[in-house]
Amino acid sequence: MVTVYDVLIIGGGPAGLTAGLYTSRAKLKTLLVERMILGGQVMTTTKVENYPGFPGGIDGPDLMARFQEHCQEFGLETMTGEVTALVDQGEEKLVTVDGKQLRARAVIITTGAEPSKLGVPGESQFVGRGVSYCATCDGAFFRNVPVAIVGGGDTAAEEALFLSRFASKVYLVHRRDELRATKVLQDRIFANDKIEPIWNSLVEGVIGDNTGVTALTLRNRKDDTQSTLDAVGMFVAIGVTPKAHFLADILDLNPEGYILTDSECRTSMPGVFAAGDVRKKILKQIATAVGDGAIAAIVTEKYLDGFE
Ligand SMILES: Cc1cc2nc3c(=O)[nH]c(=O)nc-3n(C[C@H](O)[C@H](O)[C@H](O)COP(=O)(O)OP(=O)(O)OC[C@H]3O[C@@H](n4cnc5c(N)ncnc54)[C@H](O)[C@@H]3O)c2cc1C
Repeated sequence: MVTVYDVLIIGGGPAGLTAGLYTSRAKLKTLLVERMILGGQVMTTTKVENYPGFPGGIDGPDLMARFQEHCQEFGLETMTGEVTALVDQGEEKLVTVDGKQLRARAVIITTGAEPSKLGVPGESQFVGRGVSYCATCDGAFFRNVPVAIVGGGDTAAEEALFLSRFASKVYLVHRRDELRATKVLQDRIFANDKIEPIWNSLVEGVIGDNTGVTALTLRNRKDDTQSTLDAVGMFVAIGVTPKAHFLADILDLNPEGYILTDSECRTSMPGVFAAGDVRKKILKQIATAVGDGAIAAIVTEKYLDGFE
């Protein structure tokens, strides 16, 4: 007989694991499908300092091991595989995992997002040791030291302003000679003594030693000269890719590719919910992913009970 899950969760980061904890605790037959290892983006961070309940901080993988252990307590079933398609068949959804079709009455999408990388030598080597893709997460680790932020849009500008609260100096490295950020943010950037824009420049490499990042090599696009920038942190803010491309034809996405939902995580397809970083929302953090996961699970439960 073909198994029909009550709930199929796509993605095993903080949002997916929280949703799985709630639905399995509610005795719904749940399967969570993760294409890599469980834990999501948090697995790539050394220290999480802003998730409540862990004074002094906790290593990302340790935090996610606790999430997993907690889910196991309630018998959450997990499998490794990549979801490539979702088909609405009314009361049942067909989900393709590594070419095989699974069936569920409801689906929660928690596939997250991925920060864009520069792709320069030294970048991946120093992730978590000076290279970061999230100033909100890691900015406070860089007190009274010089850092660089790479990018020219609103995110780069907002993160430069945030970093200026901690760092001794913030170099804003941008490939053009003007920012794309909104005027009000630009005014704040130019009025901030700690922030120094470095125009027309590309990061060519990240230099460091066993203590972490020590400098960046830059290339000026105008005169083609190379220079070294003393900075012990490099924050990359050149964009984020939500992992929802395989859903583009069946769900409403915004122009950047985030899934559009209402405030209770309902997508444009009945019985399909989205939670965490893959959903269009104001703050992408572990705390908000967890909150989303819990809401999506409870709204899914109501949907399955016929109260929707
Ligand atoms: C380096 C770094 C440091 C960070 N530090 C902090 C911090 O200190 N504090 C904080 O609050 N936040 C931090 N964040 C942000 C935080 O990690 C995210 O907001 C959070 O992980 C989002 O959770 P999520 O479950 O929505 O998505 P994700 O964590 O992105 O998890 C999504 C999961 O879905 C899987 N997946 C994607 N597509 C598919 C598919 N088609 N099929 C199956 N599986 C799929 C992915 O492999 C991934 O495991 C950090 C992020 C990064 C990158």
